[in-house]
Amino acid sequence: FDMFFLAFIQRLFRPSFRKDEFILGKKLGEGAFGVVYRASLANAKPNAPKCDLVLKKATEYGAVEIWMNERARRACANSCADFVYGFRERSAKGKGRGEYWLIWRFEGEDTLSDFMTSKEFPYNVETKILGEVQDLPKGLERENRIIQTIMRQLLFALDSLHSTGIVHRDIKPQNIIFSEGSRTFKIIDLGAAADLRVGINYIPKEFLLDPRYSAPEQYIMSTQTPSAPSAPVATALSPVLWQMNLPDRFDMYSVGLIFLQMAFPSLRTDSGLIQFNRQLKRCGYDLEAWRKTVEPRAGSDLRKGFELLNLDGGIGWDLLTSMVRYKARQRTDAKSALAHPYFNQEGLLGLSYMQ
Ligand code: ADP
Ligand code: MG
Repeated sequence: FDMFFLAFIQRLFRPSFRKDEFILGKKLGEGAFGVVYRASLANAKPNAPKCDLVLKKATEYGAVEIWMNERARRACANSCADFVYGFRERSAKGKGRGEYWLIWRFEGEDTLSDFMTSKEFPYNVETKILGEVQDLPKGLERENRIIQTIMRQLLFALDSLHSTGIVHRDIKPQNIIFSEGSRTFKIIDLGAAADLRVGINYIPKEFLLDPRYSAPEQYIMSTQTPSAPSAPVATALSPVLWQMNLPDRFDMYSVGLIFLQMAFPSLRTDSGLIQFNRQLKRCGYDLEAWRKTVEPRAGSDLRKGFELLNLDGGIGWDLLTSMVRYKARQRTDAKSALAHPYFNQEGLLGLSYMQ
């Protein structure tokens, strides 16, 4: 009850906007469920948020996305892009169902995907984070430090999201934005997320999930669990359901695949990842088995990935295999992953200060 009251009070004191107050700029993305634009305020009020904005016009799933963003902003503000406001826009003359408008602060130009598709990766991230070059080890070890720093940020963001009771379900490089303001990666696109504490979007919409980054389990909640109870009941039940089903481990698989892609340049392309997924499936989702089949005949590119994960006694490989596992129950959670010895070494200085 308190939570809803608090939400109501916060709503009351926050600015509200209407459709005609925004000027749309460049289109940033277009999916099956919405279009995303860069935008600004037509007549910025004195106390209005900074004018560089992102606006998403969404279909029926916009309602869930607004809910998730409101929740995330209150509970774990720095994990996700800064959400400004969301509302339902009724079409002119009152016809049609209208669409949902969501507004965020513009965090920056680049997603993790943009960085990863460049030949410069991971050095292009290092310069973003540090501005100037530091006295770091060279070569593979340096790459490993940068990747380690990115992974720490992703897991940090996921940990606070999961601690809030939210499972993202669409974790992929395209949904990770680099925030120029905080010089860290933040999560975006909560359109497929589920809030287990209150049962919102509790029934998974399978078709919303990206098969390239999805864990092998078809359903995030076991099919035996009852359908979404009404909000107050769900609030009481959900910690138990969470323990039973470990829905957060779905995201852990996806973030494991991102780690894999960062380590192996050839798996960063769509076709590379799809081929890997096929191979892993053939190996019964056993990464060790996959390694045994590909390593003997690996080209220099794959070998480089194994070499990177083998540094410091293979702790990188150990972390990877603790996330990319067939059984959700056997996957590590975000908090434990952050405590993994892989993160014991000093990361990039600029970032350790940020967190
Ligand atoms: P979609 O449903 O189309 O995937 P997203 O929420 O992922 O929508 O946004 C699409 C794209 O818009 C992102 O890949 C990113 O490039 C850009 N974008 C989204 N939110 C922001 C933001 N807060 N700041 C900067 N760019 C953003
Ligand atoms: Mg997206």
